[in-house]
Amino acid sequence: MDAKDSPRLSVDRGRCQGAGMCALTAPAVFDQDDDGLVVLLAAAQATAHRQSVRTAAQVCPSGAITVREPGGSAVTERH
Ligand code: SF4
Repeated sequence: MDAKDSPRLSVDRGRCQGAGMCALTAPAVFDQDDDGLVVLLAAAQATAHRQSVRTAAQVCPSGAITVREPGGSAVTERH
């Protein structure tokens, strides 16, 4: 699988409420800083952790995580 097949990840720290669900769900990809706000550790790990990354986006209570699948076929984001 090459990079063009990787999901695109983004986080909006302005929306983050520090709930920590992302870091619990996909700890290889997300962490929290000293203020509890999300830190994107390794966007390149999104492919290896695709399912947990999608789950993290779904459980984030503030919709701060967006996952875009290649070709824009799927967007996982809460509003
Ligand atoms: S789950 Fe959402 S609100 Fe909680 S730390 Fe992660 S990005 Fe922030």
